Amino acid sequence: MKIATTIKEVRETVAQWKREGLTVGLVPTMGYLHQGHGSLIKASANDCDRTVVSVFLNPTQFAPNEDLESYPRDFENDKALCKEMGADLVFHPEVEEMYSEGSATFVEILSDMPKQLCGKTRPIHFRGVCTVVSKLFNIVNPDKAFFGEKDAQQLAIIRKMVKDMSYGIEIVGCPIIREADGLAKSSRNTYLNEEERKAALCLSQAVEIGKDLVNKGETNADKVISAMKSHIEKEPLARIDYVQAVNGVTMTPVDTLCKNVLVAMAVYIGKTRLIDNFSVK
Ligand code: AMP
Repeated sequence: MKIATTIKEVRETVAQWKREGLTVGLVPTMGYLHQGHGSLIKASANDCDRTVVSVFLNPTQFAPNEDLESYPRDFENDKALCKEMGADLVFHPEVEEMYSEGSATFVEILSDMPKQLCGKTRPIHFRGVCTVVSKLFNIVNPDKAFFGEKDAQQLAIIRKMVKDMSYGIEIVGCPIIREADGLAKSSRNTYLNEEERKAALCLSQAVEIGKDLVNKGETNADKVISAMKSHIEKEPLARIDYVQAVNGVTMTPVDTLCKNVLVAMAVYIGKTRLIDNFSVK
């Protein structure tokens, strides 16, 4: 497995693979990798001849009041997991390599889509995500790119960007990987102290409550959301940002739960903002 820090090295490596007729998968990440990321890398390694993992803590998707400075890093562990899961190239650039001085071009979806759900509290987030993913697509030129359903709004936004910008890249969504007790794996779980870690279970428990109601035939979004919210509200350390049902493609709020509706939530546990979701089957 190779490590590249420059765009040039990545372009040269991928160009050689393409000359050999090999297919290339890309897994974009911000590092501090866990088994959730690992599952994406594995999916790419199983599906494509070569897999590139980018490890880049992208500053343009963080607002000044957010956790860019404190975001955890462990590149030695990241490299080991990438290797174990079958990556061929890890792209680990400095900020200056990705954003040269005076960089002023952004990719932004101008519909309501990035303003829904997480966009309400993170208004510049998805502009940063679209910009960096678009740059990674241009640098790596992959056949396929792998994203987690844990960040369901991000996945929907990337699909929309790929369609609108005519990228010839297949976007593959991968299921949420959870801890044994149900908590969705996240690099930000490391912020939780022991008490908060227990409290954080209210998210995945609310997901189960919502899923159960839907499986029993409940189609009224308000009823399902209320049941999920009242469970979370019982947890003193939890503060709800949102629990909402939206169309899984457009992210527009819906009243009725039917196939492909996304029920998503963001909840603060202490100072840590966690997300979770399920899609109606
Ligand atoms: P991040 O490093 O948080 O930007 O995540 C990089 C990619 O890994 C994104 O596509 C995430 O959706 C995905 N991911 C993060 N956590 C999980 C998880 N628990 N299960 C599946 N995918 C995940």
